[in-house]
Amino acid sequence: MHAISENVEPRIAILGAGLLGRLMAYHLKDHAKVFLYDKDQGDAKQSAAYLAAAMLAPLAESAESSIGVMRLGEYCLERWKEILADLPESVFFQQNGSLLLAFEQDRSSLQNMQNNLKARNFQKVDSQGIANLEPEINQRFQVGLFLPDEGQLDNRHLLKVLAKVLQNSKSVNWQTGVDAQIDGSNVSINGLKNSFDWILDCRGLGSKPDQADLRGVRGEVIRLRAPDVNLHRPVRLMHPRYPIYIAPKPNHEFVVGATQLESEDQRKATVRSTLELLSACFSVHSGFAEAEILSNESGLRPAYLDNEPQMRVSGNVISLNGLYRHGYLLSPLLVDMCVAHILDEMINPYFCEQMPHILKIDSGNMEVLA
Ligand SMILES: Cc1cc2nc3c(=O)[nH]c(=O)nc-3n(C[C@H](O)[C@H](O)[C@H](O)COP(=O)(O)OP(=O)(O)OC[C@H]3O[C@@H](n4cnc5c(N)ncnc54)[C@H](O)[C@@H]3O)c2cc1C
Repeated sequence: MHAISENVEPRIAILGAGLLGRLMAYHLKDHAKVFLYDKDQGDAKQSAAYLAAAMLAPLAESAESSIGVMRLGEYCLERWKEILADLPESVFFQQNGSLLLAFEQDRSSLQNMQNNLKARNFQKVDSQGIANLEPEINQRFQVGLFLPDEGQLDNRHLLKVLAKVLQNSKSVNWQTGVDAQIDGSNVSINGLKNSFDWILDCRGLGSKPDQADLRGVRGEVIRLRAPDVNLHRPVRLMHPRYPIYIAPKPNHEFVVGATQLESEDQRKATVRSTLELLSACFSVHSGFAEAEILSNESGLRPAYLDNEPQMRVSGNVISLNGLYRHGYLLSPLLVDMCVAHILDEMINPYFCEQMPHILKIDSGNMEVLA
């Protein structure tokens, strides 16, 4: 009923211009008149997308998530290559793998991690192997795991490039500084009701008032500029509370993160987390001693109970949410599903096979299709 016909240009409202909102607007702009709404000023600074390290690490993540997350993450890594190739400006992306390390006292955490990985495409490395991969890091590391297929991208540049394309597109009307709410099958913008053919709810944790099972998972992250440090790939350090990663970005910038706390506390980063993150980083490479601290921030990852994403369809309203710590890893999946649904094409059955709860269609009696 709502599918796009060839002659009529549908009106699509997208609530939230974070990661999913921008990607959806980008993928629909040639098929529809898109109205994009965000409460921020177009800089994404209130989004989880802005804070993220944007590692694309299906295997490393598989230690704590389902095999479906891993397999669909692998699918999305390939999709990212296509999405980025299509952009008018090149965005930093690399697939140089990631390196997992542990000091002697945390060797059992590394072994646990290895035991929980859901595939075998990794290599155990000793001190020489570590030095071959990352010649500059602390020579005290005796054991590590190298995951050669993992990737990463520059999220902040990606958000900027998408913004530029959308702001220059005649079919996108982007309104900033607005509070957008779902009101039945309409949208309320700053309290005024508007109707659309389709409404895509991409507000991340901002959808919580409408979704009781959505929660925020706190993460703290530090950005550094360290001209004395050269790392070729994200390095993860086993830590008793959570693995800490150091993800290199262009121009000697590094994202060090992230804590993972079952809390919706929105205060700034704590002393304890800051000490843990910075000392982990210094223990990996002493060159971080002279690094400039560019920012020290905290944010909330939007997550459902099983920490897996969902596309929920109810009439003309589609919610895309629950990307948790896999927003960059898995967003192309939700984008592909949502575009297929709107264009009246078949959603790839492989997605639902791998992640049985990813698609929910409410036909009045909450029928769950997958
Ligand atoms: C510290 C940290 C590190 C992370 N690292 C990684 C990583 O390495 N790899 C990875 O894959 N993922 C990572 N993530 C996860 C990823 O960032 C999120 O899963 C992803 O950003 C979620 O995308 P989203 O579009 O659903 O929400 P968001 O990116 O949060 O966007 C939601 C948007 O909706 C807007 N909004 C909310 N309410 C309203 C309203 N009422 N009206 C108008 N606009 C509204 C917000 O302003 C925001 O712009 C990380 C997250 C955090 C916090």
